[in-house]
Amino acid sequence: MAYVPIPPFSRETLLNSAEDRWRAIAAARPDLAPALALQKGLLTLVADLGTTLDHGRLPRLSLPPKYLAAKLARGVPGLAGEPIPLPVPVLVPTLVALCDALADGGAGDAATHIREAIESGTMEPGSLLAASLTRNQSALRTGAQHRGLSPDLVWLVAELAVSPFVHALQRLLFGTAGDGPLRAALDGWSHGFCPACGSWPAVAEVAGGHRTLRCSFCASAWEPAGYACIYCRESGETFVTAAPDEARKDRRLEVCSTCRGYLKTLDVPELSPFPLLSISDIETTDLDVAAMEHGYRRPQLKDFTTRR
Ligand SMILES: [Zn+2]
Ligand SMILES: [Zn+2]
Repeated sequence: MAYVPIPPFSRETLLNSAEDRWRAIAAARPDLAPALALQKGLLTLVADLGTTLDHGRLPRLSLPPKYLAAKLARGVPGLAGEPIPLPVPVLVPTLVALCDALADGGAGDAATHIREAIESGTMEPGSLLAASLTRNQSALRTGAQHRGLSPDLVWLVAELAVSPFVHALQRLLFGTAGDGPLRAALDGWSHGFCPACGSWPAVAEVAGGHRTLRCSFCASAWEPAGYACIYCRESGETFVTAAPDEARKDRRLEVCSTCRGYLKTLDVPELSPFPLLSISDIETTDLDVAAMEHGYRRPQLKDFTTRR
């Protein structure tokens, strides 16, 4: 099966499971303690917003399964180019709280300035969140630079604040695909980018022998057919998988010297439910360092802003 539905968990179950994972990481890597404390603050806010959204009403999208199936068959993610109304008033308090958590967690004034720009109206939160939802990185970065704000930090807070919404949309769209044409199209999805939102995966989680890509934004889980570079589909000898740390063969890097892309691969007992995927990501930051030291990188987001 290409697209793997992951059932939702209660906030309590999620946070308990997160605690266990943070404790294990902190024991192995005491140097990560400050990063883990910050992640805990951010993830709790994101999980709380997810709970709020679960109890509210999602927008009614007129995206019939047949239409979505045809779109996926053309290699275009389901949500790309669609007009989607964002519940801005529900998301803004979390957006502001995320700025505060980042300010306290080490980002300092750079995060406080973003909060001030949102609260004073210098930066309109609706446009900011919409740019993140449509993955319009260049618009968001330009907007941040014009206001003297850190583009990376603005991208991060917007992405975190929108992620529970886009995760819920993804589940709404694909979670109940049944056996019709949409299921067939999802099973045929073999691209490296997310079938729902078009983002690249944060990591590949390997559970039960299945190499499952996990979207860095909406947490979709999908398993491309075949063993090849997820960015350029290279499957020859320029595409290799290696464990930089001999003692930890459960954490690997897929590197491709054709496109210079890399992907982190991590063995897990089970796929991480949203929003715990970022724990797998932080657990493997040393792999990012190793890949970048050897000249590999994660590619830019693909541009679907004008495609439907
Ligand atoms: Zn996605
Ligand atoms: Zn490649």
